[in-house]
Amino acid sequence: MANVLLVDDRPENLLALEAILEPLGQTLVCAHSGEDALRQLLRHDVAVILLDVQMPELDGFETAQLIKQRERTRHVPIIFVTAISKDEEQVFRGYSAGAVDYVFKPFNPEVLRSKVSVFIELHEKNKQLREQAEQLKEQELAELRRESEERYRFLAEAQPDQIWTALPKGELDYVNQRALDYFATSFPELVEAGWTQVVHPEDLGRMLDRWQIALATGESYENELRFRRASDGAYRWHLTRAIAMTDKNGAVVKWFGSNIDIHDQKRAEEAQRFLVEAGAVLAASLNYHSTLAAVARLAVPRIADWARVDVVEDGALRTLAVEHVDPKKIELAFELARRYPESPEAEQGPPLVLRTGKSELATEIGEERLAELAQDDFHLGLVRELGVQSYMCVPLVAHGEMLGVISLVSAESGRRYGPEDLALAEELARRVGTAVENAQLYREVEERAQAARVLETVGDGVFVADTNGVVRLWNRGAEAISGISRDDIVGHRFDELLPGWERVSTGAETMPFERDGRERWVSISGVEFDDGVVYAFQDITEERALEQIRQDLVATVSHELRTPLAAIYGSAMTLNRDDLELLTGIVNDLLLASQLDAGRLDVRIESCDARALTESVAEAARTHLPGGIRVALDPMDDGVPPVAADEAQLRQVLDNLLENAIKYSPAGGDVRLGVEAADGTVRFSVADAGLGIPASERDRIFEKFYRLDPDMTGGIGGTGLGLYIARELVRRVGGRIWVEPNDYEGSIFYVEIPAAGDNGMTHMGQKAAARR
Ligand code: ADP
Repeated sequence: MANVLLVDDRPENLLALEAILEPLGQTLVCAHSGEDALRQLLRHDVAVILLDVQMPELDGFETAQLIKQRERTRHVPIIFVTAISKDEEQVFRGYSAGAVDYVFKPFNPEVLRSKVSVFIELHEKNKQLREQAEQLKEQELAELRRESEERYRFLAEAQPDQIWTALPKGELDYVNQRALDYFATSFPELVEAGWTQVVHPEDLGRMLDRWQIALATGESYENELRFRRASDGAYRWHLTRAIAMTDKNGAVVKWFGSNIDIHDQKRAEEAQRFLVEAGAVLAASLNYHSTLAAVARLAVPRIADWARVDVVEDGALRTLAVEHVDPKKIELAFELARRYPESPEAEQGPPLVLRTGKSELATEIGEERLAELAQDDFHLGLVRELGVQSYMCVPLVAHGEMLGVISLVSAESGRRYGPEDLALAEELARRVGTAVENAQLYREVEERAQAARVLETVGDGVFVADTNGVVRLWNRGAEAISGISRDDIVGHRFDELLPGWERVSTGAETMPFERDGRERWVSISGVEFDDGVVYAFQDITEERALEQIRQDLVATVSHELRTPLAAIYGSAMTLNRDDLELLTGIVNDLLLASQLDAGRLDVRIESCDARALTESVAEAARTHLPGGIRVALDPMDDGVPPVAADEAQLRQVLDNLLENAIKYSPAGGDVRLGVEAADGTVRFSVADAGLGIPASERDRIFEKFYRLDPDMTGGIGGTGLGLYIARELVRRVGGRIWVEPNDYEGSIFYVEIPAAGDNGMTHMGQKAAARR
């Protein structure tokens, strides 16, 4: 049904028009003025307008013009209706205003009706045509859409990845075959179950959370998820992405998604990361057992649900560490090991690996295999509880030796170990082996360094000579004893610097050597090893000297004591006073000599008056002179300076010389004592006219216990210590002592002592000399 707009300011005219057109059965819309007509046109879609020409205000022509100006109503046909404007000009104006017809009153109702119905028909036709065109367009669009959909599905099917699309609210509306194959399901089944059935339970929450956010915001979705592969039940990592297609208002029309298998890549990355971390753990500890336990901890849960490390001890395996994702199960594993110890002959697991030295991989352990391995029902129950699904055992080797076995087991994670996992485990074992080797090397180096430190601190001399006798090591003790520095001897044959030492091969020996012009003795022993000989030596000069003293003492003292002892025996009641003095003297000399040898004698150097000392010594001697002996003083110069010496000791030296002079002048005669200044020193002299000393013996008489032949001394007794002690005392204050022949007969002993400084104190040089 179409609308016909009737416009007339007179109601009776409108009524008449309505009556005429009613039989057409269309909707008649009436307007009472031009403005009213424009208003009605806004509301209704009109097929034809019957417009009265004469109207107050807006007349028919003006109204027609306005209608033609409007886009929506421009094509609506207008039939002017008039009773008066019949002249041509008016008619022309009507047509130019857009009229399609001009009818004059009174009009033939029949004609008017047929005219109006022509326009209605035209309008209907137009409308139909428009609708048909629209329909056609829609069909074409649908066709196009179908084609493009087909194209992208085709594209989607050709993809190696899983591709899917979903409706705005998330329901799947397409999944490519690739995905259906992976999940071994049909599209309706997948739609029914959704992703929740195929995603790893641990990833489910994360998947739902993010997908909800994406659906709510229309933002793109991305997630890394594990999807269960139907063929083997393995969960493989996928990168899932979806983006929303939106209409021009921004509303989501469709989601386009893909799941890309990134499992291998991810595992390679994880493996790499794991190995890096393992490296850090391995490098952190040098303790081999704690290192292995740390490795077990590291492996769980990254590459295993439980890990076990066994070490070889006395040819058998001992479980060192067990780690489990669930700590309660560790106890279970130990329990299992206790109750059902593995047979060393077992055809699987660590014992097999220990025997063959080769890794073992069990990708899938079915129920049947479990039952086969179990020794009884209880055993089977325990093993089942552990839920072993898959395992691998790899040998642990260091320095080419089997250290143990690392076992990695998959249980609750449902992971299946494949060749790549085995490669990772082997790489781990290799790194552990290297770490253990490093730790051992480090320990060896440490031990060596420790030994070197000890060598440096021992007082004994230690040196190592290679098979050619070239010194490779020379410790501080060796430097101190020998006086030979490391730099001078290392790299040289040791017999170049220590002649005769090459005789020492193994066993201990006592050898002399010269140091600072003095003879010293060492006890040295050598121990051979592959690359040469290690020698150790000790300075035994002192011990040797003591031993010598002991021997000499026995010889001398036994002779010297004979007389007083004989006296003691002879008259048990009384002891001769001289004997007693002699005995005391011997004992004192021995004591003093031993103190000098041991360097324990204190020397107190101070300024002493040389003249007064000389006079006092002569005075003392005169009190008990034997017959025929006189003690005389040489004239003394006033300019004799004081000496820097230990006065008591210097007195002892002079006493001793004077005593000897008297003693070795059995025929009597003059003994002369003198003192004079001599170039920074003071020289004392003791001259006698006694037995004299052969030139060849003049040095030797100063040696310890040295005495001239009894034939030359006329049987005069003594210990042979007096001159030795005198020389040592003089040497300690930086002086010297010697003997010369007396011009006529007998001998002259000289003692030269440094003069004291101006302020009466000793100077540094004398002090240093005193220490020698
Ligand atoms: P002793 O106890 O034998 O006197 P000394 O060490 O004092 O020991 O002297 C060593 C030796 O030197 C003496 O045994 C003696 O043979 C010789 N001697 C020392 N002084 C004289 C001297 N004035 N005249 C001759 N011989 C001497």
